[in-house]
Amino acid sequence: MAVWAWLKNPHNLLLVLTILGVVLGVLLGFLLRLAEPSTAAIMLIGFPGDILMRCLKMLILPLIISSLITGLAGLDAKASGKMGSKAMLYYFSTTIIAAIIGIILVVSIHPGDPELKKGRSAQDIAGDLPVQQVSTLDAILDLIRNAFPENLVEACISGQQTAYKEEYVYANVTNTTTNSTDELNITSTSEPYEVLVDTKIYRSLDKTDGTNVLGLIAFCAVFGIVLGRMGKEGNVMLQFFSNLNDVTMRIVLGVMWYSPIGIGSLIIGKILEIENLALVARMLGMYMLTVMLGLIVHGCFVLPMLYFIITRKNPLWFYGGMLQAWITALGTASSAATLPITFRCLEENNHVDSRVTRFVLPVGATINMDGTALYEAVGAIFIAQLNDMKLDIGQIITCSLTATAASIGAASVPSAGLVTMLLVLTALNLPTRDVTLILAVDWLLDRFRTSINVLGDAVGAGIVDHLSRDDLDAADREQQLHMVAI
Ligand code: ASP
Repeated sequence: MAVWAWLKNPHNLLLVLTILGVVLGVLLGFLLRLAEPSTAAIMLIGFPGDILMRCLKMLILPLIISSLITGLAGLDAKASGKMGSKAMLYYFSTTIIAAIIGIILVVSIHPGDPELKKGRSAQDIAGDLPVQQVSTLDAILDLIRNAFPENLVEACISGQQTAYKEEYVYANVTNTTTNSTDELNITSTSEPYEVLVDTKIYRSLDKTDGTNVLGLIAFCAVFGIVLGRMGKEGNVMLQFFSNLNDVTMRIVLGVMWYSPIGIGSLIIGKILEIENLALVARMLGMYMLTVMLGLIVHGCFVLPMLYFIITRKNPLWFYGGMLQAWITALGTASSAATLPITFRCLEENNHVDSRVTRFVLPVGATINMDGTALYEAVGAIFIAQLNDMKLDIGQIITCSLTATAASIGAASVPSAGLVTMLLVLTALNLPTRDVTLILAVDWLLDRFRTSINVLGDAVGAGIVDHLSRDDLDAADREQQLHMVAI
């Protein structure tokens, strides 16, 4: 009876349905594997999940724009500055702690035995991944560049990234024999012909798919602050963005009711796609275990303890309120796609002030990725171990710093962390091609690290909310005085 009464609350019912979606997804995924479904069948099974991803991604843009503008316009510059610096301090310290936890675990467990790599090419396990050279400086510059979009409409559909391109320089040669033609063994002909004389590698700026979230955040933050300072003159526009925010959040609620089906379908689709299960388990089992253990330590001990020490509130209740967002992150492997649900869970279940969530969540989802930093540190050192390379203390420190920087630079989309891991590998002089060795299990680890990324953002918002109470109360009082005066 009590269970039925509990389930009558829509929040609880939705949560149970979502958990059911995950459990059924895993069970059906492994059962259907036995039937060896065709590619077309796998595509159809994954279709509802595809639709969920599209709906969530569709909501990111209106949500970020409306939440940041209304959030910042509602705060004075001093309050937003204080809130911003608290959030940044939290983001940086928890991310570096996560990277250090990963390093300690991977060095002590030592999952990378060079024997495992012998006689096995990356393609055996994972297929090919186009590996591009990246340098730390390029990555940092790309990050800053993206914060200044030259075209706002374009920022909604693409960012920019440095790419290395090769240009081949040919020279026209006639048959008047020269040394180089002799060397190249080119037989004499009466026609002029071209000889490759040089290969130049140059940098260029390429467009990347997906929203340039950082650029939008930067613009909306400035827009919100200026709008807030306009006072009464800006009221119409502020009302517009406030309504846009309300409408978007209502649509989010609709999508949440569809998410149990979508998440189940995403999970079944992924399980059906796995190849070489036994080989992957033998070679990468210990590596996966190390990453998972690190994520558990960070998500179940470090973050809740930090939350408790700072706020003196029960982290279990807080985590309970975030369950829906956590599961959505597991299903979608994207903190950006989970963002709408994170907003709802924080505001509705954990009663975090909307001025805080609107300000810190979009930024957190973009740059605060504890799970990704931990995973990158473990992945890079695992690759060093596979290659029998010993890292000295300087390299270990470099690893923790570059893993932190790479996680900041990673987009909040599936597998972004795997790509930015190239940065860490380059900084440590490790073979970037070996990233393909861990590609086979990235789909799974990505889900777990994303869920820790989302929890990290949520705990950050909870802590900033607690630490900003005085400023928020003062803002409320000022607003009330203002209303009385009118
Ligand atoms: N998928 C992660 C996220 O969205 C990023 C990553 O690949 O590590 O948070």
